[in-house]
Amino acid sequence: MSDTDGKKPLGLRGGPRSGSVKQSFSHGRTKNVVVETKRKRVVVPKPGAGGGAGGGNGSPATDPSKRPAGISDAELERRMKALAAAKANEAEEAKRREEEEKAREEERERRRQEAEDKAREEQERAEAAAKKAEEDERRRKEKEAAKNKPAPAADPDPAAAQAAEARGAKTGPRKTERERAPQPADDRSNRGKGGRDDSRRSGKLTVNQALTGGEGGRQRSVAAMRRKQERMRQKAMGNAEPREKVVRDVQVPEAIVVQELANRMAERVADVVKSLMQMGMMVTQNQTIDQDTAELIIEEFGHRIVRVSDSDVEDVITTTEDKAEDLENRPPVITIMGHVDHGKTSLLDAIRNAKVVAGEAGGITQHIGAYQVTTDSGTVLSFLDTPGHAAFTSMRARGAQVTDIVVLVVAADDAVMPQTIEAINHAKAAGVPMIVAINKVDLPAANVDKVRTDLLQHEVIVEKLSGDVQDVEVSAHTGQGLDELLEAIALQSEILELKANPNRSAQGAVIEAQLDVGRGPVATVLVQNGTLRQGDIFVVGEQWGKVRAMENDRGERVKEAGPSVPVEVLGLNGTPEAGDVLNVVDTEAQAREIAEYRANAAKDKRAAAGAATTLEQMMAKAKADENVAELPIVVKADVQGSAEAIVQAMEKIGNDEVRVRVIHYGVGAITETDVGLAEASGCPVIGFNVRANAPARNSANQKGVEIRYYSVIYDLVDDVKAAASGLLSAEVREKFTGYAEIKETFRVSGVGNVAGCLVTEGVARRSAGVRLLRDNVVIHEGTLKTLKRFKDEVSEVISGQECGMAFENYDDIRKGDVIEIFEREEVERTLS
Ligand code: GDP
Ligand code: MG
Repeated sequence: MSDTDGKKPLGLRGGPRSGSVKQSFSHGRTKNVVVETKRKRVVVPKPGAGGGAGGGNGSPATDPSKRPAGISDAELERRMKALAAAKANEAEEAKRREEEEKAREEERERRRQEAEDKAREEQERAEAAAKKAEEDERRRKEKEAAKNKPAPAADPDPAAAQAAEARGAKTGPRKTERERAPQPADDRSNRGKGGRDDSRRSGKLTVNQALTGGEGGRQRSVAAMRRKQERMRQKAMGNAEPREKVVRDVQVPEAIVVQELANRMAERVADVVKSLMQMGMMVTQNQTIDQDTAELIIEEFGHRIVRVSDSDVEDVITTTEDKAEDLENRPPVITIMGHVDHGKTSLLDAIRNAKVVAGEAGGITQHIGAYQVTTDSGTVLSFLDTPGHAAFTSMRARGAQVTDIVVLVVAADDAVMPQTIEAINHAKAAGVPMIVAINKVDLPAANVDKVRTDLLQHEVIVEKLSGDVQDVEVSAHTGQGLDELLEAIALQSEILELKANPNRSAQGAVIEAQLDVGRGPVATVLVQNGTLRQGDIFVVGEQWGKVRAMENDRGERVKEAGPSVPVEVLGLNGTPEAGDVLNVVDTEAQAREIAEYRANAAKDKRAAAGAATTLEQMMAKAKADENVAELPIVVKADVQGSAEAIVQAMEKIGNDEVRVRVIHYGVGAITETDVGLAEASGCPVIGFNVRANAPARNSANQKGVEIRYYSVIYDLVDDVKAAASGLLSAEVREKFTGYAEIKETFRVSGVGNVAGCLVTEGVARRSAGVRLLRDNVVIHEGTLKTLKRFKDEVSEVISGQECGMAFENYDDIRKGDVIEIFEREEVERTLS
C-alpha cells in the first residue's frame, strides 16, 4: 500500500494507473488495477511503443489466468461428471451431494468472478471515472505539491483514460517500468493479471461464465425445480385455503405483536412474517407492529380489521358500576402519619398487641405490611403498616387511593412539627379525613392543649376546640386511649359509609411487593372491591399472574379475601410496585395483553418524562380544562418568613380564570416527599433559596416533576404570574453550571478562608456566580475571589477534579458545604 502510494506520486500523471496493477492482484486497490489493464491493452495493440517493455509484460500476462483456468478446468471436469451423473440419476442423493460440492465450488468461482466483475466495473468506472479521476487528481496534486511535479498532465490522464492512450504510451512505459522495477516478482503476476484480464474476459466469458453459468443454471434449475414444485404445492394448498377461508374480524389494538396478530387471524406466523417482509418490514414474530401495518397484513390475508384503541385493551377490567343493592359495608383502611419519633410505630404495635388475640395461629407476629383488628364494638379496621408520607403519596400518585382515614399522630411533648404539617397537607391533598391522636400523654412534659392550638394554625380544628376533627389523647406506652381511638375511627368510618361489592371480580392495590428468593415475586395486596380467590387471573400494574396462594396478616393460608382485607399474593410473573392496582380478568391472554400495553405505555411515558409537569404545561392544561383553572404548587423555602411571604404573594396572583394554590409549603431542602406530593398533584416544586437533596433530584428526574429554584421573590412572582397568564417564556433566568463539595477549609493570609473542593457535577467557572449551600439551603450568594487548581489560577475546573475556591467578601465556609455554580443568561449573552 505504502509502496504504491509512494510510486503514484512518481508516475502520477502518466503511470499511476499502470502501477496499480499489483494492487488489483492483492485486491487492495482495484482502481489502480483498472488503469493498468487499460494501459496494457493500449500497450499490447501498439507494437512499437510497447515492444520492449510491453512484450515482456505480454508474456507474463498469461500467468494470472492460472487461477481461473486451473479452477475452471477442475470444475469443468467435476461439472461434466456431475452433469453426466445428474443426467443419469437425477433423483439420487449422490448427485445432490456432488451438486452441493459443485455449488460450493461455483460459489467460490462466482465470488472470484464477482471480484473480477467488480474489477471490470471499476475499470469501466475508471474510464468514465470522474470520481476516481478526482481522487487521483487530489492524490496527484498532493503528491505533486510535495514533489512539485506539473499538475496539468495528471488531470487529463485520469479524466480521459482512453484518450490518454497516446500519452500513456509516451509516459506509461517509464512509469510502468518504475513501478514494476521495484517488485519484479509481482510484475509477472501483475502483468499476468493485466494480460489475462483481456483473455479472462473473453475466456472467462466463454469458459467460466458459460460453464459456471451452465452448471449454475443446471444446479439452479434442479434446485429451482424442487423449489418450484414446493411452491406449486404450497400454491395449490394456498389456493385451496382461500376457498375454505373464513373471513375473520380481527381485533387490533394500537400495537400488536406479530405472533398475536397471526393467532387472531388464525394464520401461520411464518406467512405473516413473510408478507411483512414482502412489504419491506424486517420483523420477527416477537416484534410489535403498529395498527396501520397490521391492517395491511390483515387485508392481505383477506380478513377485516377491527381497530380497538389502547384504552379498549383495559376495558375488560373495571367499568361495571356496582348496583346499590350489591354493596355491603366494608372495613375502613387506616394509615398512621406524623412527625418522626412521635410514636407511629409504637401506636401501630400497641393497637395490634391489644387487639390481635395471642394464641391465634401466628400469634402477634405480623407477616405483612397491614393488619386487621376488631374493636370492642365489633367493627373491623384495616391498618396499613406503611407509615411515611412518601409511601402514602407515592401510592396516591400511582392511582391507588387506598387510605380511607388518616390518623395523625402528634406527640404531646413536641406538638406540631414539620412532618406533622406535611402529613396534614398530604391528607388534605388526598381528601382523606383525619383523626388526631395526641400521643405520649403519659409524659410529664405532655401539653395536649398546645397540640390543639398548634393545629389550629394549620386549619385543623379539633372537636375539643369545636371543630370537626376528632381528637383522642393516647399513650402507646400505657395503652391509654387506644380503645377510644379505635372507636373514633369506627365512627369516622360509619360517617364515610364505606361500601364494596364482595360478589364481583376483585380489584385491589399493592401495599408492598418484593422478589422472594424462595417464592418468587410476592405482593401484599389490599383488596378494595370484590373478592380475590385462589386461581384468579389478574393484571397488576405492568405485571400479571394467577393467584397460586394467599396468606393473611397472621400468616394463615386463605382461599379468598374480600374488601379491605390485606393478603399476601403468590403467583406473579414479575414484581409490581407499591400502589399498583390489581384487577382480576377472565383470561391469561387479557392479563398479558394489558400488562404489555401498560409496560409499553410506561416506557413511552418515561421517554416523554422530563417534559412532564412543567409550569408551562400545567398552565396549558389548566387553560384547556376551563373548570380546573388552578395552578397548584409546592413551595419549599429557606426560612419560615420567606415561605409565608411566598404563599401570600402566590395567593394574590390570579384572576377569574386562573389562580395559584399552594398545596404544601415548608422550610428546608426539597425532599422526595415534596416531589412525590408534586407528582401526585401534577405540579411543580418551587425552591426558594433551597435545593433538592440528591434523592429528591433523582426522583424528580424519574417522575418528570419540575423543580424551579429562585432566590429573588419577585422573579418567582413574575414567573408564576406569567405562567398564570400563559406568557411564561421558556427562557431560563439562570443556568446551572456545576456543584463542588467542600472537603477542607484553609486559612490563607491575605486571602481569607479558602475551600478545598471537589467538583462533583458540571464545571466550576471563575466567572460564574456562586452560592454556598449548607444542608441544601442557600446561605450565601456571590462571586468567586479565586479559583485555583494546584497553585495556578484557572478559569475552569471540570467534574471529578479538585480545586481551591474562595468567595469574594465572604468567609463563613465549612467542610461539607456545597458550592453551587451558576451562570446568568445575561452573562452568557455578553460573553457570546
Ligand atoms: P415513629 O418514628 O413515629 O414511628 O415513633 P416510634 O414509634 O418509633 O417512637 C419514637 C419514640 O417514642 C420511641 O422511643 C418510643 O418508645 C417513644 N414513644 C412512642 N409512643 C410513646 C408514648 O405513648 N409514651 C412515651 N412515653 N413514649 C412513647
Ligand atoms: Mg417508626
